[in-house]
Amino acid sequence: MSRLQDTQRIHHLRTLLERANRAYYVDGAPIMSDAEFDALLAELTELEVRHPEVEDPDSPTRRVGGEPVKGFTQIRHALPMLSIDNTYDAEGVREWAARMHKALAGDGLFSPERVVFAAEPKIDGLALSLRYEKGVLRHAVTRGDGTTGDDVTHAARVIRAIPMKLSVGDGAPGRPRIPDVLEIRGEVFMSLREFARINSDLEASGEDALANPRNATTGTLKNLDPKLIASRKLLFCAHGRGELSDPDFAPSHSAFLGAVRALGVPVSGRLTVSDDFERILSAIDEFGKDRRTLDYQTDGMVVRVDDFAQQARLGLTSKSPRWITAYKYPPDRKTTTLLDVLHQVGKTGKITPRAVMKPIPLAGTVVQHATLHNYGQVRQKDIRIGDTIEIEKAGEIIPYVVGVVHHARTADARPITAPEHCPECGGPVEPEYPDPANPDPLWESARRCVNPECPAQVREKLIWFCGRKQMDIEGLGEKTIDAIRAEGGIPLDHFADIFRLAEHRQALIGIDRLGEKKVDNLLAGIEAAKSRGLARVLAGMGIRHIGDSTAKNLARHFADIDELLAAPVWKLMPMAVNRMSPRKRLERFGLTLTVTPEYETGLGEDTGPIVYAYLHSAPAQRAFEQLKAVGVDLSSKEYTPDSSGTAAGGGPFAGKTIVLTGTLDAFDRTALSEKLESLGAKVTGSVSKKTHLVIAGREAGSKLDKAMELGIEVWDEAALLKALSAG
Ligand SMILES: [Zn+2]
Repeated sequence: MSRLQDTQRIHHLRTLLERANRAYYVDGAPIMSDAEFDALLAELTELEVRHPEVEDPDSPTRRVGGEPVKGFTQIRHALPMLSIDNTYDAEGVREWAARMHKALAGDGLFSPERVVFAAEPKIDGLALSLRYEKGVLRHAVTRGDGTTGDDVTHAARVIRAIPMKLSVGDGAPGRPRIPDVLEIRGEVFMSLREFARINSDLEASGEDALANPRNATTGTLKNLDPKLIASRKLLFCAHGRGELSDPDFAPSHSAFLGAVRALGVPVSGRLTVSDDFERILSAIDEFGKDRRTLDYQTDGMVVRVDDFAQQARLGLTSKSPRWITAYKYPPDRKTTTLLDVLHQVGKTGKITPRAVMKPIPLAGTVVQHATLHNYGQVRQKDIRIGDTIEIEKAGEIIPYVVGVVHHARTADARPITAPEHCPECGGPVEPEYPDPANPDPLWESARRCVNPECPAQVREKLIWFCGRKQMDIEGLGEKTIDAIRAEGGIPLDHFADIFRLAEHRQALIGIDRLGEKKVDNLLAGIEAAKSRGLARVLAGMGIRHIGDSTAKNLARHFADIDELLAAPVWKLMPMAVNRMSPRKRLERFGLTLTVTPEYETGLGEDTGPIVYAYLHSAPAQRAFEQLKAVGVDLSSKEYTPDSSGTAAGGGPFAGKTIVLTGTLDAFDRTALSEKLESLGAKVTGSVSKKTHLVIAGREAGSKLDKAMELGIEVWDEAALLKALSAG
């Protein structure tokens, strides 16, 4: 084809595709299939590449998304985007209308003024202000705090329902002149079908489903990547005006909507305009009956005084305009039978009871499952399997159980038992209470699986492990971990798998958005993390009661993982042991007498045994073995041999103040004192804060108690013998 023919074809395709968009989004009457649209778009893209001289930043091809934006800038609204007052019953709407009549009649000198009302569905989405200058989209800004919002122009440019250039409508009555500045406000939203499609894609790739279309819309619009935004088909519906350079553009709300529709902007097809308020009320009533049949969510109807001049006279209250109100439909509530309760393990190990119910239509969908939140609520509401329960939809999407119809309970209703073991891994489970000192089952706020390798929790654990304060692996954040796990071919279920990623370099490079350079940086980061040492590994494993300071304290006193694992439980919590009376302590650990090291780990009597049990559990042992096998350094960087160690210059007794007490079998006391003094020690008769070491024989009395009280190191005769023979 000649250049001229190509250029003509480019212009033709641009016009045709814009017309197709308009037919689809504004007129609701598609003129071509999605496949045809995509084929023409591909043809146009190819022609534009060959002819850069006919470039147009507003071409339909630009709507597939360019480079991600860096972040949001804030834009101040030319006119504030105010909130709307809500009304919850027909009486409330009637009263509002009466106030409008009264306020407007107040300065009607002759006869009551005619008031026309306009009502349209309130779509559940995100409010957006579109600013067109000389007919071209300049800015799209979210509502924000009403005064200032986020600039999401990059997103608006890829939403096909939003025209980049306003056009004079073809076939529509009236051909409005486009004002120099025209701000159109409306709602960005997502169809239920698109919402379901996105969720099934997310679930297929192992990601979390989005909660509801509204959240999905917000998340999509606030995404920085236009390609992602373009891939999710957002819709737009105009419902108001902002700044307008031409006051004669439209005299009323209904005229305004008619005009912007003629310019190619979608508006609601369900606008009711009447000066008979009964007609408005019946529109609310009718829409309440069939709004569930629509492919998008609505939560009410917006009613306003139609005439702009009357609106101006009615004015504003401190927070919202007087001339508009939003009628909200009551939430749907139904009763059904609770058939069973499933126990689901979430990402953080939280176990949530989930109701399985006799299927029932509720607010547009058939509902079969609902959350019961936690076992405390199950007990408070006294919910039993077999009960007749009341359910409601929160945000009209996620159903939840309101309560039980107690008088309908049958004799065979069964109580719900909270699981004692994790349903996913069989691991130990711990309940949580708002007040741990007073564990009242009625107020149990959560129940968690505490197994560190519970498959239901792997993702969160991996993210934590790689975090800055733990293993600090640059480039291995949440998104990358998800991308690798979604890929499927690369194992990433255990901490050690991270250090085997180097074996999968080629596969990693193939993952979307990673690429060679990023992968090599990532692998270098992983290699560097191998030598972070014991404290960081312990802190990274997400062990309950081991934060980074406890991990460091442990690492100070154990040279490596083997020494830590070989230590008896009391060595993990020496100060807690010291705080107990000596005899109780001896009984508790079945020891005759112990050497008490002078350190504190941060673990106490209650938490020490939990940590000890974890460290010696099969999954933890496996994790340490595997980490060692892949070359992770499990020796301590913080290790400082304590004062009882033999490392101190001049032997274990040099410079020490020592007290002898009780009966020693192997030694004569005087001879022993001389021996110790010859080794550099000072032997004294009474225990004080200055005492470094107490050597206690059989039947040691008050001196031993005093030493325990002061937390002073105590040796038995055997320890003494050992030290002397070593010296
Ligand atoms: Zn588990």
